[in-house]
Amino acid sequence: MKAVVLEETRRIAVKEVGDAEMRETTDVLLRVTSSAICGTDLHFYEGRMRGIEGGIIGHEPLGVVEEVGSAVTSLSKGDRVVVPTHICCGFCAMCVEGHSSACLTTNPGAAGAAYGYPNKGGYQGAQAELLRVPFADANCLKLPGEPGDAWEDDFVLLADAFTTGYHAAAIIDVGPGDTVAIFGAGAVGLLAAYSARLRGAARIYVIDAIAERLEKAGELGAIPINFLRSDPVEEIRRQQSKLRSGSAFRHEKPLGGVTCAIDAIGFQARSKAEYPREDPYWVTAAIAEIVNPAGRVAITGVWPVNDAGAIDAPLAEGKLLVPWSKLFNKNVNINMGRDDDERWNRKLREMIVSGAAKPSRIVSHRLALDEAPTAFAKFDAREEGYIKVVLKLG
Ligand SMILES: [Zn+2]
Ligand SMILES: [Zn+2]
Repeated sequence: MKAVVLEETRRIAVKEVGDAEMRETTDVLLRVTSSAICGTDLHFYEGRMRGIEGGIIGHEPLGVVEEVGSAVTSLSKGDRVVVPTHICCGFCAMCVEGHSSACLTTNPGAAGAAYGYPNKGGYQGAQAELLRVPFADANCLKLPGEPGDAWEDDFVLLADAFTTGYHAAAIIDVGPGDTVAIFGAGAVGLLAAYSARLRGAARIYVIDAIAERLEKAGELGAIPINFLRSDPVEEIRRQQSKLRSGSAFRHEKPLGGVTCAIDAIGFQARSKAEYPREDPYWVTAAIAEIVNPAGRVAITGVWPVNDAGAIDAPLAEGKLLVPWSKLFNKNVNINMGRDDDERWNRKLREMIVSGAAKPSRIVSHRLALDEAPTAFAKFDAREEGYIKVVLKLG
C-alpha cells in the first residue's frame, strides 16, 4: 500500500510499504478515502515531538470497512466510518466514564493511545491506503452516504479537528450569551469558534497573526484580532466597552473582558513582540488578564512532555510559568486536555447530517496522497492560505 512516511525531521515521503494487516479478532481493516493533515503532525515534522521517524504519520482517517474481525459485532464490510484520533477500548474504567482519550488498555502504562503519534502506543499512522483499527466496535463511527459525497470533508473532520474544537467549547460550557476569546486560528481554533457559535455564544474573538486564518474566522462569524497589529487584551476591552456605549452597566465595570477563553495554540505559540521567535508565555498571561472573574478557560493546544526545541529549560520539560495568583484571585475555572472524541462525535455527526453544521468550511486544500511532501512543507510555512489539508486516496 501507499503511505506517507516521516523519514526524518522535515522529510516526508510517499512510499510503497507492506499492507496494514488484521491482528486481533476485534480489529477491522479500513480502506481510507480521506486523511487529513493536523497541526500536531507538524510538531513531529519539525522534530519537536520525536519518536515516529521512519513510520507512517497521520491520525485523522475516514474510509470504508474492508475486512472485519470475527469478534466485531456492529460493523460489516462496506460500512462507511470515521475513526477518531484517540484509540479506545470501550471497556476500561476511563472509557466507560466517557474519557476515551485517556483509555487505560490501548497504551498500557500510560493514559491514552493514538495513530501515528509518539509515545501513544506505537500504532501505525492513518495517512495510508489501509489502516488497522483496534477495538473496532468502540472506535468506528458509522456514517451515511458514499465516499466522495458532499459530506466527505465534513466527516473527515470528525476524526479530530471538529471534535477537538467542540470539546474545547464544551468542557468550559460555552453557552448562550457567552463572550469567548480564542487564541489561535488553526483548524482547531476555527472550529472552536464555530462550535462556540453553534452553542449560542454572543461574541467570539479569534486571535492570530495570519491573514487567511483571520479572514476565515470572520467568515465563521467571529471577530478577528491580529495580535501583531493590536494588543488582544486591550483590543477586546475596547470592543467590549463600545457595546455599552462607553459606560459599564451597574456594578459591571470589572466585567470588561470575556466569560470564556480557549488556548488553541499550545507550546509553539509565536512571540507577540518578535514574531519569528516562539514565546508560549504571553498567551497564558493574556488569557489570565482578559478572562472575567469566575470565567472559564480551556487549554486544548498541545503541551508535550518533552520539547526538543524549547526556548528555555523549563519548557523543554513541559513546565510553563503561569500567572496562577491572578487566575486564583479571579475564581477562574481551568479545564484542559485531549479530546474525548467519543463524547462528541455522534452528536456532531447528527449536526452534519441534519445540515446544522458544515465544518468543512475551514478546509483550504484537497490534495492527492502523492502531494503530501509539498502539503507538509507549505502547511508548515503557513503559505498560500494553507489552513487545513485533506489528502485524497483512491
Ligand atoms: Zn489531529
Ligand atoms: Zn479504554
